[in-house]
Amino acid sequence: MSRARVLLLNPALGPLDYRVPRGMEVEPGSIVVAPLGPRQLTGVVWEPEHMPSDAEVGDNRLRNLLAVYDAPALKAELRRLIEWTANYYLAPPAAVLRMALSSSSALEGGRTVLEYRATGLVPDRLTPQRAQALERIGDRQGLIRELALIAGVSDAVIRGLCKAGAIEPIEVALDTPFAPPDPDHAPPELTEEQVAAADRFVAAVEAKSFQPFLLDGVTGSGKTEVYFEAIAAALRAGRQSLVLLPEIALTEPFLRRFAARFGELPVAWHSGLRQSQRRRAWRAIASGDAKVVVGARSALFLPYSNLGLIVVDEAHESSFKQEDGVQYHARDTAVMRGRFEDIPVILASATPAIETRHQVELGRYEEVKLPARFGGAQLPDIAAIDLLQDPPPRGHWLAPTLVNAIEETLERGEQALLFLNRRGYAPLTLCRHCGHRFQCPNCTAWLVEHRLIHRLQCHHCGLIAKPPELCPECKAEDSLVACGPGVERIADEVAALFPDAPRAIVTSDTIWSPAKAAEFVARMEANEISIVIGTQLVTKGYHFPNLTLVGVVDADLGLSGGDLRAAERTFQQIAQVAGRAGRGTKPGRVFVQTHEVNAPVIQALVSGDAESFYAAETEARLEAGAPPFGRMAAIIVSSENAQAALETARLIGKTAPHIEDMHVFGPAPAPLAMLRGRHRHRLLVHARRSLDVQDVIRDWLGSLDWPNSVRVAVDVDPYSF
Ligand code: ADP
Ligand code: ZN
Repeated sequence: MSRARVLLLNPALGPLDYRVPRGMEVEPGSIVVAPLGPRQLTGVVWEPEHMPSDAEVGDNRLRNLLAVYDAPALKAELRRLIEWTANYYLAPPAAVLRMALSSSSALEGGRTVLEYRATGLVPDRLTPQRAQALERIGDRQGLIRELALIAGVSDAVIRGLCKAGAIEPIEVALDTPFAPPDPDHAPPELTEEQVAAADRFVAAVEAKSFQPFLLDGVTGSGKTEVYFEAIAAALRAGRQSLVLLPEIALTEPFLRRFAARFGELPVAWHSGLRQSQRRRAWRAIASGDAKVVVGARSALFLPYSNLGLIVVDEAHESSFKQEDGVQYHARDTAVMRGRFEDIPVILASATPAIETRHQVELGRYEEVKLPARFGGAQLPDIAAIDLLQDPPPRGHWLAPTLVNAIEETLERGEQALLFLNRRGYAPLTLCRHCGHRFQCPNCTAWLVEHRLIHRLQCHHCGLIAKPPELCPECKAEDSLVACGPGVERIADEVAALFPDAPRAIVTSDTIWSPAKAAEFVARMEANEISIVIGTQLVTKGYHFPNLTLVGVVDADLGLSGGDLRAAERTFQQIAQVAGRAGRGTKPGRVFVQTHEVNAPVIQALVSGDAESFYAAETEARLEAGAPPFGRMAAIIVSSENAQAALETARLIGKTAPHIEDMHVFGPAPAPLAMLRGRHRHRLLVHARRSLDVQDVIRDWLGSLDWPNSVRVAVDVDPYSF
């Protein structure tokens, strides 16, 4: 090849052609360095027929490629996925490519990673914990966190061993392979139902052909144990597995269970990695040395050399939908990757999305069910507390029935969890005198009081302000009042009611790293916490056998002002948090505080009749022509210039093509009419399933011009509609 088409890592650019200098070998997928003006950019060689160029350049005007990276070429399967993602989500291909190359930090940077290993020296003070740690670590090497996970001790124990000279840091070369997990290390004895489910997955992994599965099992039924068998099958076949988790805080319990089952850790991929670690993981993924990878959604685009299985755990979670940059849905894109790689994809959930259930009904996804909890544990009873009949005392948020239940739980030495999906102390602060409300200057949002750190904070743009002493409007003193509860306020109420019960607040403010999550899990397991007050961060994944009571502080929160997905989202959230109760031998109880006991979603939760709830919701979607029956796309027009944003939104609205079975609503102010100082308008495109909406939108927007200050982003299959 003397001429190569290259997709550069710059989303503003289309593909460009270069000359391949004599002696340089490139093929489609090769990762290269190319000149652009005075700069050098990383890019990937593409088949010209897959990546049309809009400017054909004559051979004599081509510039030379500068170098080829010493890394495997991106496989055709991954290149097809990148093209599909760019097409489907109307994103620049280079922006998708960036996720595969992890910008280009995966290619550049240091040559070693700092790890730790035992020196063989026995410390003077050999506590049983230290002895256990040294024995389990053996001749392994890894990060402090990883050694702690393998040894089943805290990070502090490993650090202590470092101080004592029993463990030392070493520089590890980037191409050092990760220790492979052992499929036969400690397989569990599966129940009959679990065996049936696992067999189905194992057969699919062995067959190595595309098949999406919905692993639909109640909370605590052993979904993880079952898909571990699929991973074991992939390991035996010498193929890689990828497990996507919705939340990096959840990787912690996952890693521990994985290490217990397979004797080694999987390779973790998330935003907390240092550059050298990222680079080592990327290389191991590309070479095939990383046998099992667990990560957040971005791990989906990595260049696996021989992927054999993808698992999306908690597949209903909204965090699989990326909301900025390339607005893709990792669950749906995972299924597409499975299709290009021709491998099985397992979507695991106790509360599958209506879209996923619909795929099962259409026969496209195969459903595998685990209807019962493991070990005879019962699903907890869910009861509604009618806040109109059984109200909390004035200025309080917990109804007497719930307070009694907490008391009984504490008396039995068991643990309770209170769920409220609101960070901070209070969602709104206002002045009692003049009614002034504290609003974010950059966003259509109230500033949230965080009392623990004594700050007001905008949860949308991150703005942080000191709470003032006086009302900035009327200058009244001591006139500011907090309205409504956040988790910190509930924690205060709990402290007043049960002063001796140790509490923990679990939100992204307190659990912001895997190490923090590990600390929380350890304290729960040691029974050092009696009452957890948490946001959606505590609703999933955790398994605490002594946790027997769950209280949902405000079930109405997600229902008000809601879109078509509001009831489904509320159902999933409450069913998931309820699923934290009674997972061991002790039965669990759940109380749901609401003003709307008769709302269908509350009734469904109380009666346990998920099927008729789903049926009714699905029917409502069908009638509205909403997804999964119709297609939606949101066009968000934003600018710091209010006039420019409005005019562009109107222009887009006026030029909407007239197509049968396609309707365009708006423009209207977007749900956040102002965000980070940008004025936002939204148009909603609603069409029949069979219409190629992307094509229509591409042509439509492609024919228009707008000022440079305006950004137009398309959200295909938006999460809220
Ligand atoms: P899910 O993912 O469906 O919520 P888990 O896989 O977390 O369920 O299982 C719940 C608990 O039951 C976990 O502690 C798990 O280790 C345990 N468990 C499930 N199946 C088995 C089994 N066959 N043998 C031993 N423990 C099991
Ligand atoms: Zn803001």
